[in-house]
Amino acid sequence: MIIKKKEVCCLCGKELQGCGYRYDQWGNKCCLAHVTSTCESCGKLVRRGQRFCPACRRSQVSATDKLRPQFVYSEVKSRLSSIGMNLPTETVDISITDRTELNRLATYKSDQLTGLTISAGTPFGMRHSIYLLDEMPTSRYKETLAHECGHVWLNDRFSILNRQSIQEVEGFCNLVAYKVLLFDHTKEAEIARESMLSNPDPIYGEGFRIMKRRAEQMGWNRMLASYS
Ligand SMILES: [Zn+2]
Ligand SMILES: [Zn+2]
Ligand SMILES: [Zn+2]
Repeated sequence: MIIKKKEVCCLCGKELQGCGYRYDQWGNKCCLAHVTSTCESCGKLVRRGQRFCPACRRSQVSATDKLRPQFVYSEVKSRLSSIGMNLPTETVDISITDRTELNRLATYKSDQLTGLTISAGTPFGMRHSIYLLDEMPTSRYKETLAHECGHVWLNDRFSILNRQSIQEVEGFCNLVAYKVLLFDHTKEAEIARESMLSNPDPIYGEGFRIMKRRAEQMGWNRMLASYS
């Protein structure tokens, strides 16, 4: 016996009519009548004007959260160490901050900015401050944190890569984020990786693809060794 499940709209819950529907890459469908856009983090259908879907909204990391940032950082750190990138243990501070503050601290101001790393020499060695944008869904937060950890790793060893082009530096850090996301066997992470692979931005997109090809050619470990 086949029981055909009736298909309902993911936005209003009503049964979908025969005249067509909109759908997203998750297989969600909604009535044609809705004015929609897609969740900035995972690509699910949302109503126009909403940045995130309900699931991503629930996973947002805010400045008042205590446990989630710690959990995500230790996860990112252990993933990095398993791919040969050890971060300094006691000299990395992470703050969650709003866009105004992020732009105040940034050399290159942008509405797209989601994270920032400032490394400074002290008499006791390098100190790194990572600033992350408030209210990002966990998956986006993790991707951004992993990218910034790439900068920490480079800055901590005064890497020669930092003297190369911005495209190579940012491309490398995005490659680090991509590798961290490879540990997540979720559709969300897969969509995030696909969007990195197709990002049209000349620095973060093209730079990432250039560095990814370079890593494939020379091997990841040799690449790390050459930037150490
Ligand atoms: Zn509907
Ligand atoms: Zn979402
Ligand atoms: Zn960066």
